[in-house]
Amino acid sequence: MNVHDSEKVENLLLHHGYLAARDADEADLLIVNTCSIRDKAEQRLYSDLGLLRAWKTALPGRVLGVGGCVAQQEGDRLLRRFPQVDFVFGTHNLRLVPALARAAGEGERAAHTEERRSLERFELPVPHPELARKNPGRAYLTVMEGCDMFCSFCIVPRTRGREISRPAEAILREAETLARGGVRELVLLGQTVNAYGRQDARRASAKAHGTLPFAQLVRQLAETPGISRIRYTSPHPVFFDDDLVAAHAFVPELCPHIHLPVQSGSDAVLGAMRRRYARADYLRLVDGLRNARPDLALTSDLIVGFPGETDRDFEDTLSLVREAGFVDSYSFKYSPRPGTPAGALELTEGVPEAVKQSRLEALQDLQRGLTLAAHRARVGTRTEILVEGESRRGAQPAGRDPYHRVVNLTTSSPSAFPAGSLVPVQIVEATPHSLLAEPLAPLPD
Ligand code: SAH
Ligand code: SF4
Repeated sequence: MNVHDSEKVENLLLHHGYLAARDADEADLLIVNTCSIRDKAEQRLYSDLGLLRAWKTALPGRVLGVGGCVAQQEGDRLLRRFPQVDFVFGTHNLRLVPALARAAGEGERAAHTEERRSLERFELPVPHPELARKNPGRAYLTVMEGCDMFCSFCIVPRTRGREISRPAEAILREAETLARGGVRELVLLGQTVNAYGRQDARRASAKAHGTLPFAQLVRQLAETPGISRIRYTSPHPVFFDDDLVAAHAFVPELCPHIHLPVQSGSDAVLGAMRRRYARADYLRLVDGLRNARPDLALTSDLIVGFPGETDRDFEDTLSLVREAGFVDSYSFKYSPRPGTPAGALELTEGVPEAVKQSRLEALQDLQRGLTLAAHRARVGTRTEILVEGESRRGAQPAGRDPYHRVVNLTTSSPSAFPAGSLVPVQIVEATPHSLLAEPLAPLPD
């Protein structure tokens, strides 16, 4: 969502006549989009701002802005603490950036972090032709924002505000515009994306707000001409209804991959995290989804060292990772966040740093083995990749398959596979982080 917010700001500025600079030296406006999900991300901003003092003073008239979740959290404290910062905008105020940047150019310093509960924040211009899409075949599409779940470790409900869903009509129109511009894959975005529309349904006002149940929205988006793939991120386990599970069986555009954060495999920890499901509920959901789509690839997020987590709790996390068979996962050491209920427990029940570190390493070792085994099992199978650009090592075209795995192409004519094209391939080799594949049929000229 943070990456997509940066795109939205870039798009707004292009519509206001700004041009993208090649690098910071050439730029006269620089905006830092920030994350505060863990303390490390927040500290990173403060060290970056230290370095940017030299950038700001090197040429008169340079403007420095800060947006995103740390901006939302800190507001005008950032202006007071960092004189090099000209303007600050919160997660609900992207639309103000062009005006704030202009005013800053005239010497006005301001912070705007008001929370807005209206749908206005979703009204953004269509993609500008100059918008340098790093990945022309794939686009993010916001369907809802905010979070009302208040997991005890998480700062998101404070930085992103209350849950709000966009009218389905606007989402469908944006999908059509994207598809006309060459997009093949939509990634539906929301903090709890499959909670889309639930507040309206509960108030029996879905009609007035123009939302639909999430699975119906997915089905309608799948009808968009030109769209061959749909993903959604991040869903919350409690918001899977039968219809959404069934959509994985019956909507061919819906990719056989779900990023389904579990956080822990221990019921005691899940309870303390206020996740609202137990280990058995999660595993039941995984079974249901695999019944609907037997080749489903699952990835997840996990936290180690939550306050009070015992060795036994951690063993439960390891066994859940094995049982669920995640093809990949992101794991994090618990990081106390300001104003969260779990943050207050860190002093009394906090897990020592060395224990957090060794649990993280054990979990990542386990995952590495599972990932490599899953990759090896794919060798010899056929799939299709959506080309995103060049591989990390350059030269080869690279993209993702429907399971969201990175696939590099072996080819002597890379230019035959431009970014945005869909290529049928056969997997020939597995590595720990990616797959290697051969194109199956030559593309038409
Ligand atoms: N809405 C998603 C998660 C979004 S935050 C969900 O509920 O699943 C992305 C990930 O950051 C989380 O899944 C969690 O694993 C991690 N995270 C969030 N807060 C954290 C904290 N205080 N310490 C460590 N990891 C955290
Ligand atoms: Fe944070 Fe996700 Fe929980 Fe919301 S559901 S509070 S975003 S972890």
